[in-house]
Amino acid sequence: MSRPSVVVLGGGVAGLAAAYELSGGLEADPDAPRIELLEADPEFGGPLRSVEWSGRHLDVGPDGFLARRPEALALIRDLGLEGELEEVDASGASLYLDGELREIPDDAVMGIPPSSASMRSLGGLSRSALVHARRDELAPRRFRADGDVAIGEIVRHKLGDEIAYRVVEPMIGGIQAGRIDQLSAQSVFPPLLEAARRGGSLLKALATLAPTSPPQGPSFASLQRGLGSLPQRLVEVLREREVVLRPRVSALGVRANSGEYPLAVETSDTLTRAHLVIAATPAPVSARLLASLAPESADLTRIDSASAAMISLVYSDADLHLPAHGTGVLIPLQTAWGADTHLVTAFTFLDRKWPHLRREGEILLRAHVGRIDDHRVEDYTDEDLVERVAAEVNHVLMATGAPRASLVQRWPRGLPQYYVGHAERIARVRAALEPHGVLLAGSPYDGVGIPASIGSGRRAGVTALDYLRARV
Ligand SMILES: Cc1cc2nc3c(=O)[nH]c(=O)nc-3n(C[C@H](O)[C@H](O)[C@H](O)COP(=O)(O)OP(=O)(O)OC[C@H]3O[C@@H](n4cnc5c(N)ncnc54)[C@H](O)[C@@H]3O)c2cc1C
Repeated sequence: MSRPSVVVLGGGVAGLAAAYELSGGLEADPDAPRIELLEADPEFGGPLRSVEWSGRHLDVGPDGFLARRPEALALIRDLGLEGELEEVDASGASLYLDGELREIPDDAVMGIPPSSASMRSLGGLSRSALVHARRDELAPRRFRADGDVAIGEIVRHKLGDEIAYRVVEPMIGGIQAGRIDQLSAQSVFPPLLEAARRGGSLLKALATLAPTSPPQGPSFASLQRGLGSLPQRLVEVLREREVVLRPRVSALGVRANSGEYPLAVETSDTLTRAHLVIAATPAPVSARLLASLAPESADLTRIDSASAAMISLVYSDADLHLPAHGTGVLIPLQTAWGADTHLVTAFTFLDRKWPHLRREGEILLRAHVGRIDDHRVEDYTDEDLVERVAAEVNHVLMATGAPRASLVQRWPRGLPQYYVGHAERIARVRAALEPHGVLLAGSPYDGVGIPASIGSGRRAGVTALDYLRARV
């Protein structure tokens, strides 16, 4: 009998993690299937990319990951990179409300003050917004949610528009560069949906989500040589295990094949026969690649993605006056900027978060730009973008000088949106594809973020091995 064969489509962290699991996980498995991984870009790792810039190992994509979830930490330990782990060195954030920086109170849960008193202590909210918050505590409005609903629908109903758009959206929408009126409560913020279904005060329900004892370990972590070193190390391990890694090769289609191998993966110049395919490509790409196998895969085109740009700026520390505490500033959408609105949705104080980025006499900032419904960034050249963002820095952070260095990184369609009905949609497509031997993995499906993407990839690897054991 011939050796089982698996093709992984996409060499982001999810595809690499799937190949790692297939090849044995912690210990290389000499009986592992033949594994071929196709990646359209010259580099593996998707947005996990580090560059040498301004005397630092700078991540031009994600700069850290949630360390209270186990998946990324476990993989980093497996790969022997534990010694390079770095804990986030600051906490908290500010919200730019009513022309001032307001420190988000310490008792906030996911950035949301969980009581009317805490909302008041934030400052910058109208009397009417605070009345909404108080009413939620004293006489909460009923909310009926039979299935999935948008986060915005719950929060606006219970706490009013002002708190929804000026307090909740900057944080919860900001993570995915999405809008709370579209994002699924079930997939993005399940405890919110549960609280709304249970009835009673939403703020009081939020308060119960705060950890009762001091959390163990860091909340966020990174790697001293940048998060790009994670996919780099994965690639080294996979090469040692003789996984066939093919950068600069796009998958063009997956079709049914007769005979011993039920699937065939096409590229411009090869055809690889396989027992199983793991699709860890962006959802619309997977929809196209899998169209001939199951018509249900067309539903994946409904997973929209937001484009974002991240602008890194180095200032002299004499020219910038950051708030005393916190890792950054969130700017609510629709915050006025002359006749326009702010382009920047958030600033991150990168070198306050990560010791490896600190340099004497300098401050390293990152500006985040772009939302699912805000494409203005596409009209700017890099030079104009730096100029506009620097003007916003002057205004929000009272900079008195120009940045010494700047770096623009654009991520077109990089952040998948989990709209209402997401979980059900994904379950339906998966059920249609699995009988064909196709598994879906990555950030469009099981949670955005590095830990969730790694977990999704590794789970697909485990499922693939079970599938092969049962059928090949
Ligand atoms: C701007 C930005 C900031 C982020 N910040 C954070 C953060 O701070 N913390 C955090 O935890 N997460 C963050 N994330 C999310 C995190 O980066 C993702 O969850 C994770 O990298 C997704 O990995 P993936 O493998 O699922 O997808 P991807 O990394 O997108 O991998 C998909 C791969 O498929 C390849 N591909 C496309 N078409 C084809 C084809 N036809 N054939 C072969 N290959 C193909 C692509 O080139 C890509 O490499 C951020 C994401 C972005 C874009």
